[in-house]
Amino acid sequence: MAFCDGCGSQVDDAHIRRRIERLELATRFRPIHIQVLLIDAAPPINEEDYFYRAAGNREEHSVVARMYFDEIVKSAKIGLGADASEEAALAEFQRRGFFLASAVECPVDSSEALSAALNRLAPVIVKRVNASYKPKYIAPISPPLEELVPLFELSGWGERLVLNDGKPFVDPFLGDPQAQAEFGTSLGDRLAEALSSRS
Ligand SMILES: [Zn+2]
Repeated sequence: MAFCDGCGSQVDDAHIRRRIERLELATRFRPIHIQVLLIDAAPPINEEDYFYRAAGNREEHSVVARMYFDEIVKSAKIGLGADASEEAALAEFQRRGFFLASAVECPVDSSEALSAALNRLAPVIVKRVNASYKPKYIAPISPPLEELVPLFELSGWGERLVLNDGKPFVDPFLGDPQAQAEFGTSLGDRLAEALSSRS
């Protein structure tokens, strides 16, 4: 057993290896100077669906993971055509100064566990943003992260937090392409719009 800094739990060696692998995948695409730090709650349970694991063949990702990927890169105004590569999209995402981080850096299997981990790790998360990521803007993109908003505000991020009516931008229809198209709730487009009004 070992202690994992990513999720603040006692875990086994395989857990630590998977975390290091995710860190290595993400580091490849981390901008030196982060303009926009998107913060999600936690990475997906299915390792194949991890955002920074570029798929040679997009079928390797679940439908929801593909939609998630498309929305996230869209926030940097990157569109993926039918034959676009995820690798190229991630490189462009990096070039534009965007980085996606998770508040809890390991997959969490229930909303209770997520909420407990967020509570436990809140000061660490704020510190990581202030000391390591140092972005120009922060955009939380998951409802449970609303709890972290006051902490970021106390830490001086008020003007540089990108929020939707004081709450994280979220996509209620992620994973449901039809509803998404019908209601025009595309997370990526709304984020891109909010960000372009900033700079
Ligand atoms: Zn962990």
